[in-house]
Amino acid sequence: MKLLLILAALALGLWLWRSGRGAASPHSQVKPTAKPTSAPKTQEMIPCALCQMHVPQAEAIAGRQGSYCCEQHRRQAES
Ligand SMILES: [Zn+2]
Repeated sequence: MKLLLILAALALGLWLWRSGRGAASPHSQVKPTAKPTSAPKTQEMIPCALCQMHVPQAEAIAGRQGSYCCEQHRRQAES
């Protein structure tokens, strides 16, 4: 009888651990839905609307007429 209790406790613990892991790591469920068209490692480069210099999208300054390489060019173009 004792062995049955231990097995039940182990099964319950394993079930809790698995359900807890599933909730804690949503990344494993995101992977299959990832876009296959875009390259994941390469950063997108966009040209500055004023000097045409290409800068990473993350570093570009968004303006009303486009994106710029720096805050100075955004002000220069939009003033
Ligand atoms: Zn620029």
